[in-house]
Amino acid sequence: MIHSKPLRVAFVTLGCAKNEVDSDKMRAALAASGFDFVDKPGLADCLVINTCAFITEATEESIAAILEAAELPEVINGQCKLVVAGCLPSRYADNLDGNLPEVVAFVPVGDEAGIAKIIAGLFDGYTIEAAPTTTMHKTQQSSRLRLPAAQNPWAYLKIAEGCSRHCSFCTIPKIRGPYTSYPIDVLLAESDELIANGARELVLIAQDTGLWHDGELGLPELLSLLAERYPDVWLRMMYLEPSGVTDKLLNVMAEHANICKYLDIPLQHANQKVLQNMNRSGSGDEFLLLTKKIRDKMPDVTLRTTLIAGFPGETRAEALELERFVTAAQFDYIGVFAYSQEEGTLAGERTDQVPRRTRLARAQRLRDLADAIGHQRVAARIGQTLSVLVTEYEDGRPIGRTQGQAPEVDGIVRLSQGSPGELVAARISDSLCYDLDGELIYTSEDRPEGGAR
Ligand code: SF4
Repeated sequence: MIHSKPLRVAFVTLGCAKNEVDSDKMRAALAASGFDFVDKPGLADCLVINTCAFITEATEESIAAILEAAELPEVINGQCKLVVAGCLPSRYADNLDGNLPEVVAFVPVGDEAGIAKIIAGLFDGYTIEAAPTTTMHKTQQSSRLRLPAAQNPWAYLKIAEGCSRHCSFCTIPKIRGPYTSYPIDVLLAESDELIANGARELVLIAQDTGLWHDGELGLPELLSLLAERYPDVWLRMMYLEPSGVTDKLLNVMAEHANICKYLDIPLQHANQKVLQNMNRSGSGDEFLLLTKKIRDKMPDVTLRTTLIAGFPGETRAEALELERFVTAAQFDYIGVFAYSQEEGTLAGERTDQVPRRTRLARAQRLRDLADAIGHQRVAARIGQTLSVLVTEYEDGRPIGRTQGQAPEVDGIVRLSQGSPGELVAARISDSLCYDLDGELIYTSEDRPEGGAR
């Protein structure tokens, strides 16, 4: 960098795990070009808001965050420049410029690697050198950049970008483009780095992790390669469409103690007609067979899904069918969403929209049902001895997660002892909703042969 004082950048990240990874990529690109970071927007020369816009509610939250930032005195007096990245500029590329005059630059999805140049261009006379090539992974699709030091003992590993499935309610294929897997060498290099920086758990994410491939290699091969390369690191998959839950994958999961016995399978509905209208496949009966197969193979597995209530045309009988499915399937965690009518989607154009009140009421009934089942299943862990990855302190007390608890979406374990990064064994003594209390039995250092991992 040819400048005596580096520019300071602050980030606000909205939305899902995929966006967090994109913010990491942008921070890495900026760090490689000599930028500094601050937590408080008021101290920054530039504030980047990485937005979410996959449904109307998320878009409104993103716009509210932008308008709130635009009210900061430093933004009003021009000391801090406002940059908007992510899904909002991707989804509404043509409508934003005139409507958000406070924003000086937009960085849509896929342009993250160029953010240093974009921000430098906002400041007269500020020049940057190209990032050293050693910090860049060579890929066919994009230059993914080295991530900064992990602040948590776990990290997301995004294995693919985009989606080619085109579910009729979903805006993501338009926002993020077609499904593109990252090559194996890029993922291994990135994993090496995350683990060298302290990650004890890698959480594999994509719009659909099951579609990942590189030549002959698919997700089972990737998982088994990672499991053998990092025997002391937990591996977890999120967002696995039902078709990705193959026998091969279940065998690989069962064979490796460090692959979390945890599956997050978005089903969205259980009625066959509603699923067809969603441009998805399967039926409640098929999904029940799938959950049975998984549990037969791994009796201790934790299962999560997502469901949509009030999809256009959903009748009361179909909503009740979904409730019966939830009772029968006994998922540990369910993310329930009331259907959101989105412009630019096939479902959004349907004329048989379910009234908003009904959608919300059906979603709430499903949530209540899912919570009653989920809380019971969590309480059934009391008395068990489980491995816990200690992740941080909360109110001065160490907390962590078991293999059955994914970061940011599931519950936690409150411990009496332990330090972040340690893998400990804890006897579960109590539960509250989705959270557990655990008493430390031993740490990874004094783990007996064959002890809980
Ligand atoms: S699988 Fe369906 S819901 Fe998921 S991102 Fe792709 S189109 Fe959207």
